[in-house]
Amino acid sequence: MADDHPNGFLKFSRDPIPYRDPTARVADYDEVYAKEWDEEQLREQGNRCMDCGVPTCMGGCPIGNIIPDFNDLVSRGNWFGALVRLHATNNFPEFTGYTCPAPCEPACVLAYNSAPVTIKSIERAIADRGWAEGWINPESPMTRTGKRVAVVGSGPAGLAAAQQLNRAGHEVTVFERDDEIGGLMVYGIPDFKFGKYQVKRRVDQLQAEGVLFRTGTNIGVNVPFQELRDKFNAVCLAIGAQLPREVPVAGRQLDGIYWAMEYLTKENRRQAGKKVQAMIDANGRNVVVLGGGDTGADCVATAHRQKARQVVQISINLRGSEERPGDNPWPEWPMIYRKTYAIEEGGVEEFNVNVTGFVDTNNDGAVDQLVYDRVEWTYEKKESRMVRTAMKVIEEGLTTPADIVLVAIGFKGAESAPFANTGIELTPRNTIKTDYNMMTNLPGVFAAGDANRGQSIVVWAIGEGRDVARCIDIYLMGGSQLPPSLRTPNPPIGRL
Ligand SMILES: Cc1cc2nc3c(=O)[nH]c(=O)nc-3n(C[C@H](O)[C@H](O)[C@H](O)COP(=O)(O)OP(=O)(O)OC[C@H]3O[C@@H](n4cnc5c(N)ncnc54)[C@H](O)[C@@H]3O)c2cc1C
Ligand code: SF4
Repeated sequence: MADDHPNGFLKFSRDPIPYRDPTARVADYDEVYAKEWDEEQLREQGNRCMDCGVPTCMGGCPIGNIIPDFNDLVSRGNWFGALVRLHATNNFPEFTGYTCPAPCEPACVLAYNSAPVTIKSIERAIADRGWAEGWINPESPMTRTGKRVAVVGSGPAGLAAAQQLNRAGHEVTVFERDDEIGGLMVYGIPDFKFGKYQVKRRVDQLQAEGVLFRTGTNIGVNVPFQELRDKFNAVCLAIGAQLPREVPVAGRQLDGIYWAMEYLTKENRRQAGKKVQAMIDANGRNVVVLGGGDTGADCVATAHRQKARQVVQISINLRGSEERPGDNPWPEWPMIYRKTYAIEEGGVEEFNVNVTGFVDTNNDGAVDQLVYDRVEWTYEKKESRMVRTAMKVIEEGLTTPADIVLVAIGFKGAESAPFANTGIELTPRNTIKTDYNMMTNLPGVFAAGDANRGQSIVVWAIGEGRDVARCIDIYLMGGSQLPPSLRTPNPPIGRL
């Protein structure tokens, strides 16, 4: 089959690894994706890649994965070679192979007038195969530099930074305030979207390579930040951007209104068999999720697994169109409506809704009703994004029953309060301010991931972790053998 390579795109149609049937998967907490995939099918999919002279897919991938190379290697059945190619740009390809929204795919040249290569499925399959074959093993450095680096935060940014810095020979300690390593990959993203065994085996790999982990260590709260600066040659802040955005309307103080992250984390802990204080369980309840994004979708899917009576997901935004708008051409990310995996499983989506209040109808101190206006928006395109400009109310004072309200309307920056008296500068968006070399205004203190970019996606966090490792290596050693990323800062040696 793969011997008539190239031109597989003329012979095979797009066929990604599927999700499990929605009615079956909503009854359990196992991963929503099909467990098994067919080698021959994946080789055909790799064969669809046209090996374009200008691989625009790579431009769509925030870490510049060398997509045509691994597509080709998979099509020829060289899975080990494909894994090596993938690891050259991505420390944790299963993190992205399972959770990435895959901005590479709409940027694939085939997507111009046809169905793109199923890059994300191929990436997942390479990583799955690597683990199954025992090809993913600890890679410890040959020599040690004697330099010590503290990484604060153990999400994908902190873990990628730690692995790269350790492989450059530095002694790395990761400090994490939670009781588990993994950041949002463990506490936040539901178990059915990303199985926690996938984080554990990477943590084991890093540990075997020599990275030290300290959980239950809230820097700036139970360990002074200055202690890290005194004991380490460099510090990397990879603390995420988990400060939730508030919904400042009447009745917000009522019981039954929760932050999405509190809700999702409690279910993560229950799934892990850990003690959960004041569990939030939607069983038999009317649930309203505020926010039309991914966090909201994860709340919808969790509420269904908890057997909620009704789930409504509310978005203030306009519903995306079915067709790509004319002013949103390839290879831009298409501004279209996408049915989420969560809504495939059930629930109702409401768009153009502005929440105006929460009501306690029986005076028991808990929310019973959500009050909202139906609105219309005018939009303007700014730098390939549609930005809302004005809102018009169409219908006022509508209500819907709500026993549980989950607030998932976004995040407003890094939780920087523990660093308030350190002199670290923040940006107007409440992220940690860094320069071209990813260093803060404090010498030797760097920032990466969501803490630097604002709430983003896993692949960006991994890319930032890789980049900050190179910046720190140059800061410590005057040069670096760590690979520069194709997309994010690439400081020339000696610039610092
Ligand atoms: C519910 C949800 C679902 C998502 N789903 C997806 C998805 O499907 N695909 C995708 O690509 N992206 C998804 N994202 C986004 C993605 O998870 C993040 O962009 C990514 O995890 C950011 O990585 P990070 O390492 O920068 O930060 P985080 O993962 O947020 O990790 C930061 C870590 O720092 C720790 N920390 C903070 N302050 C301190 C301190 N003072 N001392 C010690 N430790 C500290 C925190 O406890 C945390 O463990 C989702 C996000 C959410 C909230
Ligand atoms: S990391 Fe995401 S964007 Fe990059 S190749 Fe994989 S699926 Fe595509």
